[in-house]
Amino acid sequence: MMTDVMMLCDACGKMAKHTCKNCGKRVCNDHFDTVSGWCTSCRSGKKLKK
Ligand SMILES: [Zn+2]
Ligand SMILES: [Zn+2]
Repeated sequence: MMTDVMMLCDACGKMAKHTCKNCGKRVCNDHFDTVSGWCTSCRSGKKLKK
């Protein structure tokens, strides 16, 4: 399986380079905070881990 080459952002569908450390979603630069390692939805929503 070569699914890694087609990672798409969970928020906008663009190519995703990052994975959120909190929820595990794949997100692009626009939807990822490099400081926290979280996606923007996790940071803004302050959601707890599942
Ligand atoms: Zn995105
Ligand atoms: Zn997240």
